[in-house]
Amino acid sequence: MATGSSGRSGTDDGDPARGAAPAGRTRRTTAPRSRAPAARAAAGTRGTRSRARPKAKVAPTAHAHTAPDEPFRLVDIEPGRPDGLKKKAIAEELARHRGRIAALQARLYAEQRRSLLIVLQAMDTGGKDGTIKHVFQGVNPQGCQVWSFKQPSVEELAHDFLWRYHAKVPTKGMITIFNRSHYEDVLVVRVRQLVPEEVWAARYDAINQFELALTQAGVTVLKFFLHISKDEQKRRLERRLDNPDKNWKFSRADLAERKRWDDYQVAYQDAIMRCSTPHAPWYVVPSNSRRYRNLVVARAIAGALEAMQPQFPPAESSLGRVHVDD
Ligand code: AMP
Ligand code: MG
Repeated sequence: MATGSSGRSGTDDGDPARGAAPAGRTRRTTAPRSRAPAARAAAGTRGTRSRARPKAKVAPTAHAHTAPDEPFRLVDIEPGRPDGLKKKAIAEELARHRGRIAALQARLYAEQRRSLLIVLQAMDTGGKDGTIKHVFQGVNPQGCQVWSFKQPSVEELAHDFLWRYHAKVPTKGMITIFNRSHYEDVLVVRVRQLVPEEVWAARYDAINQFELALTQAGVTVLKFFLHISKDEQKRRLERRLDNPDKNWKFSRADLAERKRWDDYQVAYQDAIMRCSTPHAPWYVVPSNSRRYRNLVVARAIAGALEAMQPQFPPAESSLGRVHVDD
């Protein structure tokens, strides 16, 4: 899998470690009545589980938000995993979705007509890297790219904010993962007041137009917010401090951002509310449990790929009469 990063502190090689689911009127961890096909697939309500093989107690949810401007409150969504899930059942279902993703990716790549863009957003320690590592095991690296977006470079800042992201969207046949994305421009940029309010406030519409243009060009867009609690972030930051092998992941800057936790939650809530569309849904994924998070993301991706129904190109005619010389 190709990886790369964009931004001031990034290198073209990226980080080798990266190689490797409405409330308002919503209920916790349940999906709204009107959902896009991908959202339904992710919620496990269609095609993902056969009646013949009932899989125990795997809860059906990411919270899929697909209606722009429908009231939505992040605090209504539980970041913990549902009760009663057995590790083994989660592992089995995850393995099954990985297999589906790999098989469908092979078709997408061969077809060379459409592509998939996966946007991963989270608070620090939310699990973006771990999701990439665990969900994409088994995909053909040739058909998959990861781009990590850091603070923008001087050149990137000299362009419109979408420039650096547009340059990295998937070409036909590819799956591209954005580890952070154009949403940073209405998240960190808003929270840290890096541009005046009228500038970032205009960006939600720009993002919706951008994503619509992508989908009209054959790019399926899936967006995941890996939702963790503030307590869980504390535990994870402490683990990074306590475990020498994880020290490298600790940044004092994350502590400064943690102080702005509530501002970030408001910014995320607005971004998810304003930029959830039927063609580019946001999934708020309960992510305090890594295993459950991986399962929910894998299920959504497999469902979306299945809904695309990628096909191998037709074979040349009369192959049965072709003889390969000795
Ligand atoms: P990490 O993903 O932990 O390597 O950190 C990347 C850093 O880049 C985070 O602090 C992001 O908030 C920051 N970042 C990403 N995109 C932007 C952006 N458009 N403007 C400002 N900071 C950004
Ligand atoms: Mg970080």
